[in-house]
Amino acid sequence: MNMKYHFASDNTAGIIPEAWDALAAANRGFAAAYGEDEWTARASDCIRDVFETDCDVYFVFTGTAANSLSLAGICRPQHKIICHRQSHIATAECGGPAFFSGGAGMEVLDGAAGKIQPGDIERVLQQPYDFHYQLHKAISITQSTETGTVYTVDEITAIGKVAKDNNLHFHMDGARFANAVAALEVRPKEMTWQAGVDVLSFGATKLALPVGEAIVFFDKSLSDDFGHRCKQAGHVASKMRFLCAPWVGLLENGAWLKHARHANRCAARLAAGLEQFAQTELLAPVESNAVFVSFPDAVHRSMRAKGWNYHIVIGETGARLMCSWDTTGEHIDQFIADLESAFSD
Ligand SMILES: *Cc1c(COP(=O)(O)O)cnc(C)c1O
Repeated sequence: MNMKYHFASDNTAGIIPEAWDALAAANRGFAAAYGEDEWTARASDCIRDVFETDCDVYFVFTGTAANSLSLAGICRPQHKIICHRQSHIATAECGGPAFFSGGAGMEVLDGAAGKIQPGDIERVLQQPYDFHYQLHKAISITQSTETGTVYTVDEITAIGKVAKDNNLHFHMDGARFANAVAALEVRPKEMTWQAGVDVLSFGATKLALPVGEAIVFFDKSLSDDFGHRCKQAGHVASKMRFLCAPWVGLLENGAWLKHARHANRCAARLAAGLEQFAQTELLAPVESNAVFVSFPDAVHRSMRAKGWNYHIVIGETGARLMCSWDTTGEHIDQFIADLESAFSD
């Protein structure tokens, strides 16, 4: 049977047409290598325009590289990163941040809806740490979160203040940054450097692109020799224009927010469909493009038999359903119709 991966993740979707066209346009003739080309310059300028500031931009292949390398850029081996227990950096990067930093540790905090709280960060910082322990040096939050929720600008600003007051660097994992901007309808700068964020992993693969994430340093004093770190890690593409041209297609005419809004709207529609059933329970507020939902195990088995592939991520019955730029109303209706029939199987 053909499995249906429509809701399994947002990276099961293809490439947005705007990025595909830009890729084709970049595939004409010769260009300088290793990021010395026009496309790389344009993509970097697009990112500076989006953030309305003169930030330092690096393009790498994966989100794990973006997080690990940027955190390694702000932490040394004797340092520690404060983050949520469920954060991708703590759970799904195979120790990448520790590896690339030469040993930086993590202080994981719990927090409802995938968010860490300023008060909890302050409590951790007040513990009497002598030289037997790694020193807190950075805070990392995920926006939108691993739970599909979105930090408000005020919440980010409050964490940014704790970071500044305590001499910590502030990192944001923006694997789904666009979905958060679309959800809050704010200017990207309000959610980042104006709120105290020093460095952002700006994701675009899950949103729209074939491959590639950007690392954006708002505090340029932190990125002095960062190009060397990227090269050492094998993250400087020799044909960099093909990593960067899709970014131009994505950002130049606002396609990124159009597609992010669409994915978010699809998630809201899917959630509304799921809520019709007495036996389903939404496990987290639906604020971006993710829906966390629980229904009985037998119904999951029946959905699988109908071809639906998705991940159970919370306990035995909590599924994560992701919407993307390519999700349609028909996909959602089909899923809901199959669910309705699965309940009576
Ligand atoms: C997917 C994801 C990443 C990046 O993952 P890669 O597979 O390395 O590209 C980072 N953070 C979060 C929250 C993610 O969901």
